Amino acid sequence: RCFCKLSGKPEECCCDVETVDQINKEIHPVISELVTKNFFKFFRVNLNRPCPFWPDDGACALKDCSVSACKEGRRPGNGSLNRKGSTHKMQSNTEQDKKGESCPSSDNETILGEIDSTISDEDKQAFEAWHAHDDAEDNFCELDDESSSGMEYVDLLINPERFTGYAGFSAQRVWNNIYKENCFKPTSPYGKRYGVVTSKNVDEMCLEKRVFYRMMSGLHASINIHLSAIYLFKGNGFMKPRWGENVEEFRRRFDPETTSGEGPTWLKNLYFTYTVALRAIIKAAPFWEQEQFYTGDYGDDVEVQELVQVLLAKSKTCPSTFDEKLMFRDPGSAKILKEEFKLHFRNVSRIMDCVGCDKCRLWGKLQVQGLGTALKILFSGHEFDDGKFDKNSHFQLKRTEIVSLFNAFGRLSSSINYLQKFKSMKHGHR
Ligand code: FAD
Repeated sequence: RCFCKLSGKPEECCCDVETVDQINKEIHPVISELVTKNFFKFFRVNLNRPCPFWPDDGACALKDCSVSACKEGRRPGNGSLNRKGSTHKMQSNTEQDKKGESCPSSDNETILGEIDSTISDEDKQAFEAWHAHDDAEDNFCELDDESSSGMEYVDLLINPERFTGYAGFSAQRVWNNIYKENCFKPTSPYGKRYGVVTSKNVDEMCLEKRVFYRMMSGLHASINIHLSAIYLFKGNGFMKPRWGENVEEFRRRFDPETTSGEGPTWLKNLYFTYTVALRAIIKAAPFWEQEQFYTGDYGDDVEVQELVQVLLAKSKTCPSTFDEKLMFRDPGSAKILKEEFKLHFRNVSRIMDCVGCDKCRLWGKLQVQGLGTALKILFSGHEFDDGKFDKNSHFQLKRTEIVSLFNAFGRLSSSINYLQKFKSMKHGHR
């Protein structure tokens, strides 16, 4: 039940699953409402950055991501992953959700991984005012270059994180790269270096390296819960295609029997990652107090400020979350370890440009950036030590970092919420 015995000693267990479940029941409705607000629902991102690690990503993307909602098999590789803008106007996903996924006609084929880039003229005008307002600026993430031509606003509400069909070599290569190349590798007591970190050998590494792996694994678990929870059941002659919770898919991914016993630990890693993000939000409370959450709509901005305060008040009922003070303490190694940690994390943010499915890439980039922002807050120095925030401090957060942190936390919160539903479902789907 304990999921964050950071020191590896059971008596130092800092939180248990039931406590977090209880707190999340309170927090989930608040964070879910917060991310529907204009400040949070538009994410500025460059989805056109080339993959810096392997050149053939595009080919994989076409093979693996372009799943047609109603046709069997893959969509032919015609290059239309919609990176450069759609040639046909897509129906918004929320509209589709309300009606249930209907079978699109062949000339208006829906690609599940495709981004719906519809933004109203009114919103476009508002963005200009936002830029004029944002001039504020130790990052754990490589942020997209604000001035690069590929930057665009994406409405997250019409591009929900859900099943896209992205799988196979391309997806595995990204996850493999994260675990094999970017997570730290443990060494056994006999000096043998393992090729990859897993939940079975992770405890043979120092605290900081364990934290890194567990955050990656928690993020992975969260993504896979969402794709199981908002899964596309294909239609047949009798039934229309529809979205719903797929408990079989969830079981396949997390059951001890199908995951060599690792699934339950991956779920604990989700709880761990949740407490890291929550701790960052709580720690930065004095920062949120002075943040305007500017959108130009005074009523909306005040409502967002109030919701953030409600979120903080509810979070305070959590007896203990992640304790960042336990990390980077050893005077002999702390500095180098912190640099390595940062470097590895930045690399993961760059790998997100190799995700061969636009919608998965969008949410992958957002969530990695959100976790990077959490780390930036947690290891910022002494900015929040006395519970106040000095506006003249060199510590600043960009709009995109704030948006990604709260949305990433919202995803983790939603995963824990879905987990409760899956636990209560016996089998089959709804
Ligand atoms: P994968 O999930 O690909 O896992 C590969 C291997 O990693 C597993 O065999 C297992 O050994 C190990 N593993 C699995 N889970 C964990 C864990 N939590 N911790 C540690 N190790 C683990 N698909 C969608 O449908 N919608 C999305 O929005 C979406 N977003 C994605 C975002 C990113 C950044 C990536 C890389 C992929 C995304 N995918 C998405 C694809 C999805 O995550 C899976 O890769 C895909 O469904 C194939 O699953 P799989 O069963 O082959 O195992």
